[in-house]
Parts: sequence; structure tokens; C-alpha cells
Amino acid sequence: MRITKITGIHISIPLSVPYKLSRVYGTVTDAHAVVVRVETDSGLVGYGEADPHPPFTADTVPGTLEAIRDHLAPSLLGADACEINRLEGEMDACLDGHLMAKGTLDMALFDLTGKSHGIPVHALLGGKMRDEILLSFPLGSSTAADDMQIIEERRKSGFRSFMAKMGRNPVNAEIERVAGLSDRYANEIHLVADANQGWTRDEGEAFVKGARGSILELVEQPVAADDVEGLKRIREKSSIAISADESVVTEEDALRLACMEAVDVFSVKASKNGGLTKARRIVAIADAAGLQYRMNSMLEFGITQAALLQLGAVSKALIPSGHAYMSTLRMADDFTDFRGRLGDGYARITDTPGLGVTVHEEKLSQYALESFVVQ
Ligand SMILES: [Mg+2]
Repeated sequence: MRITKITGIHISIPLSVPYKLSRVYGTVTDAHAVVVRVETDSGLVGYGEADPHPPFTADTVPGTLEAIRDHLAPSLLGADACEINRLEGEMDACLDGHLMAKGTLDMALFDLTGKSHGIPVHALLGGKMRDEILLSFPLGSSTAADDMQIIEERRKSGFRSFMAKMGRNPVNAEIERVAGLSDRYANEIHLVADANQGWTRDEGEAFVKGARGSILELVEQPVAADDVEGLKRIREKSSIAISADESVVTEEDALRLACMEAVDVFSVKASKNGGLTKARRIVAIADAAGLQYRMNSMLEFGITQAALLQLGAVSKALIPSGHAYMSTLRMADDFTDFRGRLGDGYARITDTPGLGVTVHEEKLSQYALESFVVQ
């Protein structure tokens, strides 16, 4: 099954409600993605998605488009789409970095390989360990009273796990917020927090001390991505699990965090980590180190989410407090049918071949800002 044509499309779709993140990321109103369509001489088509959100990682939309158009796509033309491991090496050899650009093509190769064998990607990866994964719903940077409104509304549709965005308001206000939610929801919901690099080491330490004994099960990325020593210091003072997200982009990052015993959990993302091939190695490093992982997302559409669902299906040490497969629910629209997988607070794993998601081409055209073809 030879690759004959690769199309890259930059799309943008507004969020249903603006999303208040940390001091580092501000408030986001629109989500951008780069979608690739990989065509083959068999007639089968595979899809991948990249989700650059600077300064989350070094990836940008223009950089991702250029990396695919000028470097990665030409290196894949004529190759057998099923030789994913070999093609990963070729992509790494022709261009340093650019994990999201490589990730979108890696997803498309898995999609094609699964489709060509008539099996889901989780079967290619050794078979699923579960049929559904608990969803965690995000709470923007806010107060306990505002959170409760969203929690009450979402509980009606089955959500029982929530992720509070922090790192924007004073730490004392966040401790009060967690205390308010603990008083109201003890033993009723799972709660995790994500500070998105918003705190200093001292603020992070003050937070985990103040939140001790609360219902909070995990604190993600309290300090800057490159402050691994800070993560370790906060972890040593915390009774709550500490997770790395922005700090774990590459496999080398994962090894360093594991060797330094800096965190308890890795936040794994199909686009951030460079596709399924590379994300799977990060999961393997966590397994070897006895760490757990949270299957997580950025502002993503259905292809990246479907790829991550395949990885969640086959990975053993998922944290019990919920995973981020609800990104498409926060968009005004999606160009896939992924949200049909979500219901009663769970993401369902199916046996549909490939990544298991249908892409609506007319919606890709509707939301396209620019595109290119390499053939
Ligand atoms: Mg995060």
C-alpha cells in the first residue's frame, strides 16, 4: 500500500465558551489544528491531526505546515504506509524536533494500517484492556461557586470526574476553592487540578500543603516546564500525586523525570508527544518506572482524540480519576463523529478499523484556512 498523495489543511473552529487557562496561556476562544489526509494506491485514506498551541510546546501552525509540506511528506511519498516503525526513523532522520508534525503523519499511518487489515489500532497494538474509559470534564480558572454550577449541570449527563484549571488566581484562593468543592462533593466526584506552569516553587508547595486532606487526587504541572527540580521538591512535600504535562514532551523528558523521581504521573497526549509510536514509548517508560499516566488532551478535535483513545485502550496504568477525551464537546463544531463515542461520563472503545473515527470532508473544507498538496 504505497503513499501517493499527502494533503495538509489548517483549520480553525471556535470554542463553545471561551476557556480561561493559567497566567501562561490566558483565555482561548478558537482552536486551531493541522489535519493531514494521506492517500494510497489502494484507494484507502488515512487521517492525522496536529494541535499546536504555543507556548505549550515549540510547535506552531506555520511551522507544522512547513515541516510536513517541505520535509516530512516528500520523505513518505512512495513508501509502504504499513511500515510505521521504518517511516518514523525516516521522518526523524530528515527533520529534528517538530513532534506534532511527525505525530499527525504517524496517526495517519496507523489509521491506514488498521484499515488495510480491517482491524482497530488497539488490535495492532496488542489488543484492548478495557471497553471504556472514565472522562474528566474541565473547569476553567474560577471559584468553587462557579465550578459547582458546571459540576451540577455536567453530573446530569453522567460526568463524575472534573479537572480544575488553576495557576491564574492567588494560591490562597485556589486552596479555598478546593476546600469548598471538598465540603460539597466528598466521596461524590473525582477532582484533579492543572496549574499549567502558573506557579513558582513556593506557590506550588503552599498549594499542596493547603490542599492536604482535600478530595484533590492530582496536581498537574505546578511549575515551569523546565523546572524538573521544582516538580521534585513539590512532590516530596505533597500527599497529592504530582503530574508532569508540559515537562514531558519527548521520550528523553520522560526518562529524566522517571530517573529523578520528580513526579508520580505522566500526562500523555497523542499530538504533544509526536503520535502513537512515540507516545507509546513514554507509556512504556512510565510502566518500567512504576508510574501512572493520565490520557490527556489539549484543544483537540476528533482525530487526535480517537488516536489517544486507542492508546488508552491498550495501556495498563491509567490513573483512576478520569481522562481527557471530552475536548470535542467544548468546540462549536467538529469535523469528525468522535463525540458519538462519549456518553454517561465515559468514552467507549469500539472495534471500527483504523483510528475508528469518520472524518467529514465537507466540514474540513468549511473550516479550512489554508491547505497544500504534496504528490
Ligand atoms: Mg495540562
